[in-house]
Amino acid sequence: MPSTTQQPARPRVVIVGAGFGGLMAARGLRHAPMDILLLDRTNHHLFQPLLYQVATGILAPGEIAPPVRKIMRRAANTRFELGDVTEIQLDHRAVTVCGPDGRTRQVPYDYLIVAAGAQDTYFGHDEWAAHLYPMKTLAHALRLREQILLAYEYAANCTDVAEQKRWMTFAIVGAGPTGVELAGQLATLCEELRPEFDQIDPTCSRIVLIDALDELLTSFPETLRTHAKDRLRSLGVDIALGAKVTDVDTNGITITTKDGPSERIETHTAIWAAGVRASPLAAALATDAEVDGKGRVRVRPDCSVPGHPEVFAIGDLANLDDLPGLCEPAMQQGSHVAKTLRRRVSGKSEPTAFAYRDLGTTATISGKDAIANVFGVKLHGLLGKLAWALVHIAFLVGWGNRAGVLVRWLFLGITRTRPERMIVTALDHRAPDPTSPDSTAPSTPSTHKRESNAGASR
Ligand SMILES: Cc1cc2nc3c(=O)[nH]c(=O)nc-3n(C[C@H](O)[C@H](O)[C@H](O)COP(=O)(O)OP(=O)(O)OC[C@H]3O[C@@H](n4cnc5c(N)ncnc54)[C@H](O)[C@@H]3O)c2cc1C
Repeated sequence: MPSTTQQPARPRVVIVGAGFGGLMAARGLRHAPMDILLLDRTNHHLFQPLLYQVATGILAPGEIAPPVRKIMRRAANTRFELGDVTEIQLDHRAVTVCGPDGRTRQVPYDYLIVAAGAQDTYFGHDEWAAHLYPMKTLAHALRLREQILLAYEYAANCTDVAEQKRWMTFAIVGAGPTGVELAGQLATLCEELRPEFDQIDPTCSRIVLIDALDELLTSFPETLRTHAKDRLRSLGVDIALGAKVTDVDTNGITITTKDGPSERIETHTAIWAAGVRASPLAAALATDAEVDGKGRVRVRPDCSVPGHPEVFAIGDLANLDDLPGLCEPAMQQGSHVAKTLRRRVSGKSEPTAFAYRDLGTTATISGKDAIANVFGVKLHGLLGKLAWALVHIAFLVGWGNRAGVLVRWLFLGITRTRPERMIVTALDHRAPDPTSPDSTAPSTPSTHKRESNAGASR
């Protein structure tokens, strides 16, 4: 006889974002008696700290972006859906999701975890975006890789010295870990490209690292910052600190220092590794909460949203004790919220405060040099590089990816060969013509070969 006792419905948990915070929350709930729906607008979990290695041809995209479905395949209570969350209706306990077919639907929840991260911001100059290369998504990294590789092809075919110099100049805005790592890798790439070009000398490229602050890598102690600066300079990187970007166009950027004159940097490759702002979903959560200057929603000590104990905001879109926008706070908050929900379904409802454990930070400068401040120990050079590599391998998701990345690094260390150097889009005469009035009309780069290089300085 069929049983007449009705099973109580299992709580429905919706997690928005399968980045560092969302994935940790999902993993922490995989054995809980709950039905989890994990939503993301991309189908992969992106390991952003190694994006610059995709942009500079070291790693393949798949090595830092495993599919979420594969990661969660053994979690019987979890379903993944590709979709863009466009609205959150806190009063109705539902989110609006736009699916891959463009259709929207309402998804109800009992508990909601919002971990949608941050996006680029151009400090009120959205018009700059058209001329900049941001570094936030896999698509950005691949577009930048294409641009860097094309820049040398255009430069090699260029008869106009000023234009050739423009192609061989790279401006990186933002001297945090991403900017520093990109600058170091670009300088190393130039060395590696040198024997391959006879028309130009890639080591004559100009790489400029710019930041409005008076220091680079501000989250590191002074000794390590000084080491990073010295090392970058020895690689030929120009460092412009205390310099604000005041204009951007197709042919370059203008920077202005506090007491000095403006400088125009002629370049077709201006990379934006500067500001980020919380996902707009943070504001949707702020009916009873404050939003800070970076667009983050201020959460309660247990990561819940004020006025809504069933809703949690974690990672880059949440402000709890003004923690920095890094992987570790996002991951630890994801684990904490999962623990809170597990306790709630087992009848222990009192919230516990999140306590952050700072494990330290690392940044790489070149092939054999990195800085690391881990567990209070300051390392640089090869030891720093070892610490950096261990931390990154440990944090990558999946043993296959860890092994793949390790093999790539060993291969690069031994052979100095970057395997990911394909220009995949067909040439479409896209090089901007500097003589055109609006500088946006395309022209075909000349195929005339020059004997000497442009003599751009480093
Ligand atoms: C280039 C780069 C390098 C970095 N290097 C380091 C480093 O070396 N060390 C470090 O600690 N931190 C680093 N960070 C910062 C770190 O990556 C972030 O702090 C961390 O990813 C934050 O985790 P999160 O879960 O809040 O957001 P994310 O990891 O960004 O995840 C957000 C997820 O939400 C999804 N999403 C966004 N909006 C929606 C929506 N509306 N609907 C559905 N899905 C949505 C996104 O697709 C994404 O998968 C770096 C960041 C960048 C961009």
